[in-house]
Amino acid sequence: MTSCRGCGSGGAQGFAAKGTDGTPFQVRRCPGCGLGWTDPALPDSEIGAWYPQAYYGSGNARFHPQLERLIRAFRRRRADVIRRRAQPGPVLDVGCGRGYLLKTLRELGFLPYGVELSEHSAWHAAHKLHIPVHVGPLETAPYQAGSFSAVIFWHTLEHFRDPFAMLAKAHALLKPGGLLVVAVPNSESLQAEVSGPDWFHLDVPRHYWHFGASSLRAAIERNSFVVVQEDHFSFEQNPYGWLQSLLNMATPRFNYLYDWLKSKSARSAPLRKNPAQALLTLALAVPLAPLAVLLTVLEAGLRCGGSVELYAVKR
Ligand SMILES: [Zn+2]
Repeated sequence: MTSCRGCGSGGAQGFAAKGTDGTPFQVRRCPGCGLGWTDPALPDSEIGAWYPQAYYGSGNARFHPQLERLIRAFRRRRADVIRRRAQPGPVLDVGCGRGYLLKTLRELGFLPYGVELSEHSAWHAAHKLHIPVHVGPLETAPYQAGSFSAVIFWHTLEHFRDPFAMLAKAHALLKPGGLLVVAVPNSESLQAEVSGPDWFHLDVPRHYWHFGASSLRAAIERNSFVVVQEDHFSFEQNPYGWLQSLLNMATPRFNYLYDWLKSKSARSAPLRKNPAQALLTLALAVPLAPLAVLLTVLEAGLRCGGSVELYAVKR
């Protein structure tokens, strides 16, 4: 792709990025609007290999139980923001995973609907949590135009081949005054700037697109939405983004701590084979963890958080 899908500018510069297993990829960034994209994007026949079942975790847990408890608290905070901003009624989570956000929203009185590409995750949402889930792309979902109070893309928009079409579709599915919720890693963040190709949230080749707060806002506003809230402080995403990115810069093996924190069934590689990396990671993680929290507060204050959440209302 030569010209930017966001603003039409040419002359995007490429930089080297690493896949989670160290495979080299390239990301291009538009000099006009800052939008980035993975180039080339892997075809459908190859991208599936980057989403093993382990990516989603097995059963109920993707991480250690203590961490799962913390994640539940974050999910509740996220649902509370949606409750304050959205009218009551049906809500759609696009890329709903195992369905836990929808479960929380149902507890707050909403009618939950999910779309999910992973049959494994969709099974959990449908059969364990009893949430109606469309398995497949949003384009083939049987929903009526103008029927939802809220449509949510929680760290999923960057995984779609055509996020711009997804935003247009969300606009069509929403009632007048309906709420669009989008959270993405922020390529304009301090942590992205500092860590470059070592940035944890770059996540190539799964992320086809690399939005920043301003390029995401522009894409949303082009689809006749009015942005009503922009949050840069995410305790769920940003301290860990800092910690893992700093560790990636300082140690040889990419995303080692992340693999270790995943519950046993979700681990992608045996860890005991590399005691030197384990010791180094531990020795560095102890002093870097409080620093990561401080940097998260700093970048939120500067409005350049490692991830950004935009809330917008359909005009
Ligand atoms: Zn552009």
